[in-house]
Amino acid sequence: MPNLQDLLTTDLQQDALQLATKIHADEFKRLNFDMPVVSPDSVPLVKLAYERAKMFRGTKCPHCWVKHGKEHSLVNKYISDNVDVYTCKSCNYKHYFTKPII
Ligand SMILES: [Zn+2]
Repeated sequence: MPNLQDLLTTDLQQDALQLATKIHADEFKRLNFDMPVVSPDSVPLVKLAYERAKMFRGTKCPHCWVKHGKEHSLVNKYISDNVDVYTCKSCNYKHYFTKPII
């Protein structure tokens, strides 16, 4: 049985990576770059977003971390026995965390 903290971290890591992918797509669209041709490493903003997403640990806000390198803690609110919601007061990021059924 994995502990809840680890499961939450895994969820938040996925959100961090998703955001980096979105920054990649948005930035390449803005610059009119061809996604499969141009390396993401050639655009510093995109490179940094992926680096931060890969370095993500713990339960801080993945959006503040990937976008600005800032560590903002998330506020945990109980919704039901199965679901908690984690919110960032700085950027309004919200994550619904589904707890495993024991
Ligand atoms: Zn945030």
